[in-house]
Amino acid sequence: MNGISERLDQVRAEITEAAQKASRDPDEIELLAVSKTHDAEKVRQAVVGGQLLFGESKVQEARAKIPLLPSNLRWHFVGHLQKNKIRHALPLFELIHSVDSLELAEQIERIGTEDGFFPRVLLEVNVAGEGSKFGFRMEALERAMERLLELKRLSIEGLMTIPPYSDDKEKSRRYFVRLRTVRDELERKFQVKLYHLSMGMSDDFPVAIEEGATLVRIGTRIFGPR
Ligand SMILES: *Cc1c(COP(=O)(O)O)cnc(C)c1O
Repeated sequence: MNGISERLDQVRAEITEAAQKASRDPDEIELLAVSKTHDAEKVRQAVVGGQLLFGESKVQEARAKIPLLPSNLRWHFVGHLQKNKIRHALPLFELIHSVDSLELAEQIERIGTEDGFFPRVLLEVNVAGEGSKFGFRMEALERAMERLLELKRLSIEGLMTIPPYSDDKEKSRRYFVRLRTVRDELERKFQVKLYHLSMGMSDDFPVAIEEGATLVRIGTRIFGPR
């Protein structure tokens, strides 16, 4: 179990197993291979292993790496997006998982309009209300939603969360449940579809899948330690 292809196969098997345990169709769950800090050669090895969807968390790093790789790869942005990097990010990423404030959403709308993009985004939710974390607090999200939905170029396709760090992966479960519950409430209240739940990383993705994840973001289990 040392090559990237073998690790990918193992992760895929665990995704299928978790889906089946939850009576879900494994095809509903997309594996995002988070390649941040790993070089283009490592990404190429993952491509050989059949992976085409990758995640990056820094725009500068992605701008250097993506042009070195085949153009049929798909890229998602998962990090904190600085406003002065939006213009560079939009042509590179098909989905931004980490819209963490109304101001950022408004800037993405503005630059999308100027540059001719219809950005697809998820809203990052700080489900535990941690002071150190990016993301909408749960109370703030409901208040922001009305304005967010007025941003007509943005396609808001779901929610993302990074739960508090814990050694015990079962502890993440309540936060995954919370994200799904918030999603269901927002869908009902605002009559919108928020299809994606981006949740689950190397240590806790099976639990996230049991609780409804549609996108799991996995780095270490595929590429090794950073
Ligand atoms: C780095 C990162 C991941 C991947 O984390 P691993 O524990 O290495 O799987 C997932 N999501 C985000 C937002 C990240 O920054």
